[in-house]
Amino acid sequence: MRTRWCGELGIGDVGEAVELCGWVARRREHSAHLAFVDLRDRTGIVQCVVDGAADLRAEYVVRVTGTVTARPEGTVNPSLATGQVEVSGCAVEILNEAEPPPFSLEEWSEADEAIRLRYRFVDMRRERLQKNLVMRSTINAAIRASMFAQGFTEVETPLLWTPTPEGAREFAVPSRLQQGSFYVLPQSPQIAKQLLMVAGVDRYYQIARCLRDEDLRADRQFEFTQLDIEASFVGVEDVLGFVEEAVLDAVEAVTGARPEVPVRMTWREALERFGTDKPDLRYGMELTDLAEVLAGTGFNAFKAEAVRAICVPGAADSSRSKLDGLVERAKSLGAAGLVWMRVVAPAGDDTATEPRAKVADLESPVAKFLSDDERNGIVAACGAKPGDLLLVVAGEHDRACRVLGQLRVDLGRPPVAEGGLRFVWVTEFPLFDGLDEEGNPMAAHHPFTMPHADDLDLLGKDPLSVRSLAYDLVLNGWELGSGSIRIHRADIQSQVFATLGISEEEAEERFGFLTGAFRYGAPPHGGFAVGLDRLTALLAGEENIREVIAFPKTQSGADPMTGAPKPLADRSLRELGIGILPPKR
Ligand code: ASP
Repeated sequence: MRTRWCGELGIGDVGEAVELCGWVARRREHSAHLAFVDLRDRTGIVQCVVDGAADLRAEYVVRVTGTVTARPEGTVNPSLATGQVEVSGCAVEILNEAEPPPFSLEEWSEADEAIRLRYRFVDMRRERLQKNLVMRSTINAAIRASMFAQGFTEVETPLLWTPTPEGAREFAVPSRLQQGSFYVLPQSPQIAKQLLMVAGVDRYYQIARCLRDEDLRADRQFEFTQLDIEASFVGVEDVLGFVEEAVLDAVEAVTGARPEVPVRMTWREALERFGTDKPDLRYGMELTDLAEVLAGTGFNAFKAEAVRAICVPGAADSSRSKLDGLVERAKSLGAAGLVWMRVVAPAGDDTATEPRAKVADLESPVAKFLSDDERNGIVAACGAKPGDLLLVVAGEHDRACRVLGQLRVDLGRPPVAEGGLRFVWVTEFPLFDGLDEEGNPMAAHHPFTMPHADDLDLLGKDPLSVRSLAYDLVLNGWELGSGSIRIHRADIQSQVFATLGISEEEAEERFGFLTGAFRYGAPPHGGFAVGLDRLTALLAGEENIREVIAFPKTQSGADPMTGAPKPLADRSLRELGIGILPPKR
């Protein structure tokens, strides 16, 4: 029905007779004989000049024929990609009428979320969402090409599945044929892909839909998409290599430039330097260890397992109420307190800007409890200069680091679209992450993660200090994905189940079909999963993954367009053998 796309017309096309199709973005009556119609398709907008009054309304679907002409002097529109030209002498054929759109599509107005999602099919006509969907498709295509080139086989695993060990709440699907029994929608293809390794597939990948019934956030929806990978006869380095190749290929396909390879950092180093396992390397403000400077301090609050600081550049002039707010924030994050110190130029020298080991003045409620050497030492250790603000937390080591890590994000994090792409591999995650209510260690990743070979004998003695062969890929402070080398040996698996407090019967019942399969020859294997919604959002400069998903849910998990979730008709419920309890009060 058309010869060209609206958004691609330019000065080089002048003189060409074109046929275009799309939606009426805007229309202005110039005179009784002349109207301007902005025509929109998925590539952009072009202005069409229509002789005679066209009876058009916004969002009518039309076919336009005319000739590309250069816009008359003074009417060029630099803010429009096609702004040097217009299509003149147009004839317009109305293909379909349309009701007025429920909200303006002209620019990016944050129309009420529920309204946007109720009319998502209109919302998506906007350039920003069109671009994001195309970008997503580009990423998927690049990833498929990359994985295929690396010798991986794409295998689809079932959606009607059984509980998986990722530890999130699951969506259940009632069985009609076996009433009272349920399928579970997979949180990830974890078990299926490990079975594929036993099956000798050797290198598996899938662009997989995963479902987790967890509270929704800006970076989390019920359903999300992962590049899911598993490979046999590999170690950590191999897996990181596969993932790196695919992700960098995808970024290159979108941006035209190959980003720097991810830097490497152990989990411990990430915690020490950035106070988090998701370090954002786009900015500094790393944590400083003040242990040495304060080794002999007489100030009780600083006689703690750890004393750490961050330096906020240029923030010394923060108001008292701002500083009080930071203290409250630190407490809400679990710190006993927060000490702030304004770094000021020593009297008589207000020109000094370099970090100095000599005299620096600290303005702080605790300054009087610190010796001159301690005050100078703190400034020097933090590399601070007059005008900076130091924030110090003392207390239990990991907590002190985490609190400062969060303050660093609160005070330093640049907007999503700024600061480039800084990938980090975080390796050697702890195998366990704290204790559950019964005092059993909880799996930090999932119970099939291989412990670090050097820490095997700690499993029974000091489980919380056992490192694992689990790793995360982090981009600009967002966790892009995780993976691990898996346990393929029954003796190690039993030890880990025992440490987790999972009895043999329970293990048999929950994961028996996996551990049972392992008895038939499980190769050493490992894998990874990359969150593609997050990757796309970061590349598109979006804060919320909703903007890169065609049909997302609202914060409360609803779909205002279809009305889902909805009650089922009584007949359907009976067929499924389901009765509904009265609502919980
Ligand atoms: N199944 C894991 C996840 O979804 C990834 C992996 O270990 O491969 O987080």
